[in-house]
Amino acid sequence: LIDFEVQTNSVESMPELAFKVMMNVGNPDRAFSFTQMPNEGIGLARLEFIINRMIGVHPKALLNMNSLPREISQAIQERIAGYASPVDFYVDKLVEGISTLAVAFMDQPVIVRMSDFKSNEYANLLGGKLYEPSEENPMLGFRGASRYVSDNFRDCFELECKALKRVRDEMGLTNVEIMIPFVRTVGEAAEVIELLAKNGLKRGENGLRVIMMCELPTNALLAEEFLEHFDGFSIGSNDLTQLTLGLDRDSGIVSHLFDERDPAVKKLLTMAIDACRKQNKYVGICGQGPSDHPDLAFWLMEQGISSVSLNPDSVLDTWFFLAGEETK
Ligand code: PEP
Ligand code: MG
Repeated sequence: LIDFEVQTNSVESMPELAFKVMMNVGNPDRAFSFTQMPNEGIGLARLEFIINRMIGVHPKALLNMNSLPREISQAIQERIAGYASPVDFYVDKLVEGISTLAVAFMDQPVIVRMSDFKSNEYANLLGGKLYEPSEENPMLGFRGASRYVSDNFRDCFELECKALKRVRDEMGLTNVEIMIPFVRTVGEAAEVIELLAKNGLKRGENGLRVIMMCELPTNALLAEEFLEHFDGFSIGSNDLTQLTLGLDRDSGIVSHLFDERDPAVKKLLTMAIDACRKQNKYVGICGQGPSDHPDLAFWLMEQGISSVSLNPDSVLDTWFFLAGEETK
């Protein structure tokens, strides 16, 4: 994936840019090798990666071990052997994954996004089918902030909070920041911030920044209101494009129409960036757009975005492309 022959592994040896270049990194096993790339932190660490690869069990099943069918509880027992309790297994594994990322990128921010599995994805975890609804359109269903604050999932979200709190407050890895995906309404934004605080993750305390993903058109349209609850936006251009153009990002049939550079998407991007700048808040992008289209990365730089988070394998090419464009 990465050419390790490249000798430019520090930011100092790279041309200076008007914004930070961060990386999307989810796999703790790759974290230390990715630090060999010039970078200014992790702009998106997807918790789904850690849950899929290191845990593999639905959190609700771990919370309800006594009421599970025998075969499922036996399969889970095998996985959790050696841990103090089923719940400890879940939290300890999250702590292990997150802290590995945080230590690898010690001097830089590591923005950890709370879980954003859709119901069909959660159902694939061990025991998941017992707890997940069957939805026609999971992409538009029980996900993100709506999930966290609901009576059906709050206890699971609180396990994620417990892990984050331990990493930040007990291990002292305060470079870890929190990101909330798929926030549909301003009311939901307020609720999720309150829930975090209730679980010991108070915005501003011990330097904690809480970022919101800007990935629904409503987030850009009502940016000012959403931003009252957060320390900034990280733009999820994958969902934002899907929802603006009304096309399923997983459908090959309409994929030729998927373009983050569509004028309607760009209009929303400008609105989001301007609103953050007006309030002097962080605004980055962590969707696939700038990794696939360096011209979009340059356009975002011109709009005054504070950072782009790229796939590790596109960091060098994009960085040099931007430096070349800047000097034109
Ligand atoms: C996005 O929507 O752009 C994003 C980064 O989130 P995900 O791809 O995980 O939905
Ligand atoms: Mg998204």
